Amino acid sequence: MQDFDRFLLTVVYDLANLIFVVDQGDGTIVYANQYMRDTLGADCVGRRFAEQFSGAGGAHHFISYNQQHGAETAPPLQSEYYDDESENWYHVQQRQIAWIDGSPKIVFVLSEINALKRLQKDLTEAHATLAFKNRELEISARTDRLTSLYNRHQLDQVITSEFQRFRRYGKPFSVLLADCDQFKQVNDTYGHPAGDAVLIDLARLLQSNIRATDTLGRWGGEEFLAILPETGLDNASQLAEKLRATISAYVFPVVGHKTASFGIAQIRQDENIKDLVARADQALYLAKANGRNRVEALA
Ligand code: GH3
Ligand code: MG
Ligand code: MG
Repeated sequence: MQDFDRFLLTVVYDLANLIFVVDQGDGTIVYANQYMRDTLGADCVGRRFAEQFSGAGGAHHFISYNQQHGAETAPPLQSEYYDDESENWYHVQQRQIAWIDGSPKIVFVLSEINALKRLQKDLTEAHATLAFKNRELEISARTDRLTSLYNRHQLDQVITSEFQRFRRYGKPFSVLLADCDQFKQVNDTYGHPAGDAVLIDLARLLQSNIRATDTLGRWGGEEFLAILPETGLDNASQLAEKLRATISAYVFPVVGHKTASFGIAQIRQDENIKDLVARADQALYLAKANGRNRVEALA
């Protein structure tokens, strides 16, 4: 034997990988390095390959490759294999070789990859957790905590996209501002938590009386804003009137009857978002000045 071959054999013998050679004909293990013998027992040489790896999917996992491949020129097959008995994960590399005597054999190199598998699992779990948290964060970034409606930031986004549709396609839209009348009295008389409960009820009443295509959000304090796509002033006015009537008819727990005032405005040709909302706000101011529990529009 050449010195270099001897050197290679020594290296293979000592490597901390399971290295073994299987006869393609009768399936016996004809060579096992020291690590393999330490792991599976010195008697593994001479045993049938199929017996040695009889765990679930064991021998089959390896042998299926031999049937499909086998040409010495083919690249080695890389796969992963879980050994039920030892509960180890292995990276498997196998290829056909001409053995020392020239006969065709399959050489296997198995490297234990438990740490890698653990890391993979941890990473997958961490990724899933992160995706979940991200989603939660996205939702909470656009939601008003108290009412669960969209917050002002999200309303700004929706008005902006509606405004762009108006600019590009000339689609009209209106905005509606609703403000609870004498709300401060609720807090002063019944306390802040009672005020919060009224706001939650108001949000629900408004939300359940608008279209699915309308967008409702909390504009601030006891003020709500709705964006009404494809809606002119007349229709916006009708909707506001319906909302007003619904609220004034509702009996709030603890507090009893409350009313709200409404200001509406339809986008104008030469107008920007800020001016539009300012007009709705002026209309609301008018509704308050004219006695509350009413709807005003600024054309
Ligand atoms: P008006 O009819 O003119 O609208 O009178 P108002 O009392 O409703 O209006 P004002 O602006 O004087 O008072 C609004 C009150 O809303 C004051 C503020 O403390 C209260 N408020 C704002 N945000 C909240 C909240 O989240 N919870 C509670 N409970 N109160 C709030
Ligand atoms: Mg108010
Ligand atoms: Mg207000």
